[in-house]
Amino acid sequence: MHEPDALTRELMAENETLRARMAYLLEQAERNHEIMCRHQAFDLQIVGAGSFPELVGTIFRTLPVISELDIVTLSLVDQDADIYTVMHRLGVDFDQFPNLMFCEHAAELGYDLSPGQRPRALLGPYAPAQHCAMFPHPPAGLQSVALVPLLRNTRLIGSLNLGSADPHRFTPNLGTDFVEHLGSIIAICLENVISNEMLKYIGLTDSLTGVYNRRYIDRRLLEEVARAQRQGYGLSCMYIDIDHFKQVNDTVGHQGGDEVLREVSARIKAELRMSDALGRFGGEEFVVLLIDADLESASMVAQRIRASVASQPVDLGNGERVAVTVSIGVAALSDVEREQVIEDVAQELVATADAALYQAKADGRNRVVTYS
Ligand code: GH3
Ligand code: MG
Ligand code: MG
Repeated sequence: MHEPDALTRELMAENETLRARMAYLLEQAERNHEIMCRHQAFDLQIVGAGSFPELVGTIFRTLPVISELDIVTLSLVDQDADIYTVMHRLGVDFDQFPNLMFCEHAAELGYDLSPGQRPRALLGPYAPAQHCAMFPHPPAGLQSVALVPLLRNTRLIGSLNLGSADPHRFTPNLGTDFVEHLGSIIAICLENVISNEMLKYIGLTDSLTGVYNRRYIDRRLLEEVARAQRQGYGLSCMYIDIDHFKQVNDTVGHQGGDEVLREVSARIKAELRMSDALGRFGGEEFVVLLIDADLESASMVAQRIRASVASQPVDLGNGERVAVTVSIGVAALSDVEREQVIEDVAQELVATADAALYQAKADGRNRVVTYS
């Protein structure tokens, strides 16, 4: 063996460099492939989200992990707080999502909204004064951020805000294709899930009073009877009817009557627990399902409702005030009924409350009658 000559040494060194470079590129390709797979899995997960909390929960939980981010927040344009109100009524617990914000107008999000121009993602260093609305709870050491517009067609519906402790993660000269693509998928999913929740809400609620409708209560009643039978806890039902409502309409007009219906349902609701269900059964009749309540506690709640409605006249907002009262029938599930068919038990529970209401009317109105 003799020493390699200069040329061979040079070739060997070059070979080494190329190998190292090749290994690096392979590693990068593998890494990119892995990132792409993780993102594809994420896309599938958010496309499949069946509800608003499931979708935002997935975004907040999964996106920081797969994209190696230190914070992800979401700002949604919600004029008149429609989205917030409906989600809240559908039981969404917003305390669970400290990084979910709502704003009244798209202009508040800080994008260039010049007509004919598509708002672009804004990448750059984190500036607390400038970004405090997007990151109300910034993690320590936040260095760079990407604010990604969420667009549906040309409408700005919100902003996806990504933050990293790496100052080089988001810089102004970086391409925005990737984050904008992510933004467009999230925007579609959000719009989809929000309109589904809105439809769900409309289908289950009464548009005049905002309380549940009969369809919801009928369905919920079956669920609650089944649960009460299974788990052996109490279930009570209240049938509420406004006294002489025809007269109220005659005195203050149909619109005044509508206002009375809204106010009475609000006063009923104010006496109930979160777990109870209030529905308008039509006209001026309401049904309440009291979960885990026996006859005695249900009739105490009924007395509070009766007193609250009678306590002061309803302000119609036009200077007029009208005094109204309600009659209430109360019934509870008994142990015997726990052996029967769910549908029969449910029907009988409401029928018993209705019969008690009939008695309350016969006894002179503005009163509670309890049947066991
Ligand atoms: P009672 O004390 O026996 O319950 O007397 P009442 O007048 O309340 O009895 P009734 O059930 O006969 O009358 C209900 C009235 O409610 C009839 C209808 O004009 C009115 N009503 C039904 N739906 C609505 C509504 O959506 N808005 C308004 N303003 N009135 C309604
Ligand atoms: Mg009636
Ligand atoms: Mg009535």
